Amino acid sequence: MGLTRREFSRLGALGAMAGFVPDLRASAQGSERKVGYCVIGLGRIADHFMRGVKQGSTSQITGLVSGHRDKAERIAAQYGVPTSSIYSYEDMDRMRENKSIDAVYVALPNSMHAEYTIRSAKAGKHVLCEKPMCVSVSEAREMIAACKEANVKLMIAYRLHYEPTTLKAIKMIQDGLLGKIQAIDSANGFNIAPGEWRSTKKLGGGGPLMDVGIYSLNATRYLTGEEPEKFTAVASTIDRDGRFDTTEENTAWTMRFPSGVLASCNTTYGAAMPGYYKVFGSKGWLEVDSFGYQNLRLRANYTPEGKNSSATTLDETNPEPDPKQFERQADHFTQCILQNKTPKTPGEEGLRDMQHIQSIYRAAGISFD
Ligand code: NAD
Repeated sequence: MGLTRREFSRLGALGAMAGFVPDLRASAQGSERKVGYCVIGLGRIADHFMRGVKQGSTSQITGLVSGHRDKAERIAAQYGVPTSSIYSYEDMDRMRENKSIDAVYVALPNSMHAEYTIRSAKAGKHVLCEKPMCVSVSEAREMIAACKEANVKLMIAYRLHYEPTTLKAIKMIQDGLLGKIQAIDSANGFNIAPGEWRSTKKLGGGGPLMDVGIYSLNATRYLTGEEPEKFTAVASTIDRDGRFDTTEENTAWTMRFPSGVLASCNTTYGAAMPGYYKVFGSKGWLEVDSFGYQNLRLRANYTPEGKNSSATTLDETNPEPDPKQFERQADHFTQCILQNKTPKTPGEEGLRDMQHIQSIYRAAGISFD
């Protein structure tokens, strides 16, 4: 009906105040419309995501899926979600009719990602799915196929691909500041509490490699820009206290990349193992000290080529507090939806990690589909 941009924005704001149409205010990014997300699973990571969305200007929370109606109603009130946009796991397919929901954020235990991604795609919604993408290579393929079939976008929530310290480390390597990369060393783990779904095969899909070791695996890939081609691995369980009845407690693995870079990684659910990676090149090294939600610190020491060159040292910490990483991640997917672009971390990125996880497990003598 030929509205000017100002009229369009004003109409959106009035509608949002009246509570009967999605918020159409012009965003700071210049797009005309906020993309509405329905959050599936209201646990710990969903809380970070929802705060990140609220803090940003391009997206909004417009639906919730939960098994706990009271919790969902509390969160709905916090984020201005109408109670008619709260669904249970059983009836969430009804969101197909809900025009305020453009996309879903799947924040459920790992083994539930495939089912809820596929159901959301069939309901016509774009899908932002938490890592690990799922619990088998075949599920990953099915998720990609279902989203393609429904003509919706699929992004895996690898938040560090949108985080400035991580991007700087990658660029330093790409720019050759460290010379020829020879080796990467990385670890990530924690001492898991009893009763956590993460250490069960049924919901976690495997041991610490699935949930936390995947950070080291994914880092070696974004740092080298290559796919590993040869694997060795060992796994063990030390604690026989019920936490590891169906999965392993520790995994250590090595990978060789086509360029010859060797990576050596460790993950555990039996000890505090603060996440980090260290990259060693012919001209120097760099280290990022965390895979966490804030305060990633990058240290480096390298000597550029040239007779009189002296060593450069770097020590800087990203000051952006949590939930900025989640805001950046949501913004990226929102822009992909609005501009019809492929996300930087599409389903295929998750599939590759699943394939490598399969190779690591098989090298450790553990079956994995
Ligand atoms: P969580 O246990 O805090 O939340 C899981 C949610 O799923 C809860 O709301 C729970 O009620 C719901 N749920 C539904 N069915 C369930 C069932 N059968 N058993 C257990 N819970 C059930 O977990 P989380 O830490 O929020 O992790 C959710 C997903 O997010 C996982 O895949 C995890 O790997 C991923 N994750 C990602 C990051 C990241 O930084 N990207 C960090 C933490 C977790």
